[in-house]
Amino acid sequence: MQVVVPRPMLQAFDYSIDASFGNGPWAGCRVRVPFGNTQLVGVAISEPEETAADAMLKPIDARLDAEPVFTPELWANLGWLARYLHMPLGEVLATALPTVLRNGGEIPPQTETFWQLSESGATARGNVRGAKQKQVLELLAAGELASRDPALEDSTATLRSLLGKGWIARVERPLTAPALPDLAEGAFALNDEQAAAADAIKAAEGFQAFLLDGVTGSGKTEVYLAAIRDCILSGKQALVLVPEIGLTPQTVRRFEKHLGIPVHAFHSGMTDLARLQTWQAANSGNTHVVLGTRSAVFMPLARPGLIVIDEAHDSSYKQLDGIRYNAHDFALVRARGLNVPIVMGSATPGMEDLHAASQGRFTYLRLSKRAGVAKPPRVRIMDVRKQALEAGLSRDLIGRIRGALDAGGQVLVFRNRRGYAPVLMCRDCGWSAQCQRCDAAMTVHGHGRRLQCHHCGASRAAPTACPNCNNLALEPQGQGTERIETFLADHFDDVPVIRIDRGSTQRKDAMARHFETLGDAPGILVGTQMLAKGHDLPKLALVAVLGIDEALFSTDFRASERVAQLLIQVAGRAGRAEIPGEVILQTHHPDHPLLNTLVDGGYHAFADAELGLREAAGFPPFAHMALLRAEAKQAEPPRAFLQAARRLFDDPRVEVSGPVPAPMQKRAGFERMQLFISSKDRKALHAALDAIVPQLYASPQARKVRWSLDIDPIDL
Ligand code: ADP
Ligand code: ZN
Ligand code: ZN
Repeated sequence: MQVVVPRPMLQAFDYSIDASFGNGPWAGCRVRVPFGNTQLVGVAISEPEETAADAMLKPIDARLDAEPVFTPELWANLGWLARYLHMPLGEVLATALPTVLRNGGEIPPQTETFWQLSESGATARGNVRGAKQKQVLELLAAGELASRDPALEDSTATLRSLLGKGWIARVERPLTAPALPDLAEGAFALNDEQAAAADAIKAAEGFQAFLLDGVTGSGKTEVYLAAIRDCILSGKQALVLVPEIGLTPQTVRRFEKHLGIPVHAFHSGMTDLARLQTWQAANSGNTHVVLGTRSAVFMPLARPGLIVIDEAHDSSYKQLDGIRYNAHDFALVRARGLNVPIVMGSATPGMEDLHAASQGRFTYLRLSKRAGVAKPPRVRIMDVRKQALEAGLSRDLIGRIRGALDAGGQVLVFRNRRGYAPVLMCRDCGWSAQCQRCDAAMTVHGHGRRLQCHHCGASRAAPTACPNCNNLALEPQGQGTERIETFLADHFDDVPVIRIDRGSTQRKDAMARHFETLGDAPGILVGTQMLAKGHDLPKLALVAVLGIDEALFSTDFRASERVAQLLIQVAGRAGRAEIPGEVILQTHHPDHPLLNTLVDGGYHAFADAELGLREAAGFPPFAHMALLRAEAKQAEPPRAFLQAARRLFDDPRVEVSGPVPAPMQKRAGFERMQLFISSKDRKALHAALDAIVPQLYASPQARKVRWSLDIDPIDL
């Protein structure tokens, strides 16, 4: 019998099986097999009789599933994905399983855990000291709660200690989806554009891809909810994908509140067991809706009806290491395989999606105006050439912030650079603090006390004297969110100044807490792109964008698209309520075409121009790319490996260029090189890779490097 294992090897391995393991379908079942001097959890890919009996074969140690652990559709599509990514099937299958199953764990009985207040808990409730314990007891006093209830998120430790005291009890019940649920109606009637979009999705028979292109605040979520409601009412399940930072307990609650039924979440912040429970609920048909991040794209669906991708342009749908799949693209493959409609929503659709819509491969749905009372913000370019800046802010801008605060509004200052300052430099000799393991400057943190590399995580104390000239002339150069926060807190000491970035907002719900702290009172939010999404800020009057200049000049052909999307997303935070919002882009390049196109024509004018440039340059979506990366402690082995790889290509329809150093050649102590492979003909590209990749695995140079192949790379 043939088995694939989660190891970087393309081939399957033959094992024999003992008659005691029983008959029945083996393909798609997990098996435990001896492998070298260890044991691995692999997946059988054939039936025993298809392999000639051979006394030399090692027997498998255990059969872990009586029935295939993959649905027929996932089995077929994961096979396709492995071929498309040119990755070992064993690794792809392992990636697609929840951690517990990947590690050989059992599929537990399908129960759901509930928590109830016990009698002694009801008595003790009045005299409990701990705030957290009190809160949980109060919640349970109002009625039992499922352990997956968002209200109990982060309460695992508290529940454990309350259980230890006997104040609460745990009840396991068989998991069942509510019979045809009593779906709550939406809070308001959809407007004409929303209704047209929802009707179009409703009318889809089988597979159809929809691009829901709607400005921020146009009510895309209401359209998803209408389509999901319809899907559930016809007895089917919906799978909703959201970006990494988009899935908060608040999102789950919004969906649950609207639909009036439990929604099962799936993301990396959950325990392995909780993720397995969601997987099981979906696989058995015991949930109507699964809402998850990237890896939820592998969710098995017993009664598939609809797939939704929110913020479809978001780069977090692409996995950047290991199995480098793109959940957006694989969701399309699955929708086709499942024969269900798929809705991709965005205020700033990616070039690939717009191109597909213009070719008629996607049905284009447009929401052109904001729903409700909100008005689009006014966007202005502020020329700061020859102006004195304080912490990166011009006088004029500081004045406008004062004005907005005095009028009772809130202000958002966006700077996509965390830390205190990007560089620590010597005024006297020009020395600057560089990371020893990367080609990059170290970022100054802690008001100048610490240095940290944002690429490899290295961190050390900042020197007090210049290591080069010994003078006490070291100065942080440039602005990070920490420094801007310090300046603003000092300058506007009458209002709260809250910083939101990865440094200040580690936990998923921290952002919501920050927003709650601010409330409706005048105040300032400073932060990185984490601020581009998040709660509605009805009092937001002004958005100031700092430091866009460095993003305007990048070598990555996708940089313009990303800057445009980020600017539109950040700007979209303004004007979501009665206050007409204003957005100010501070720049030293007021004539930059990207900024002007965006400000004058909006995202679509930018996208048209950008697609024209991409076509002329032969970049995606007008060509298909792959990137072969290699790295080692020295630059020579990666170069030799890639040069040898390059010589293997001989199809004139496939262009190969390189090897060239990666944009940051040295990172975390490794010298990195890359080879670009592209073709206008997707089939030709993949045929070439089909022929070459097995040779790469076998190549002697490959043993001296770490290498990876990235299909449709998004970071060059
Ligand atoms: P998007 O997902 O496009 O950013 P949302 O679905 O979050 O937009 O809607 C933005 C705001 O507009 C929300 O507060 C929502 O409740 C409100 N809204 C959406 N549709 C309508 C409608 N038809 N009538 C009134 N308000 C609406
Ligand atoms: Zn010096
Ligand atoms: Zn580093």
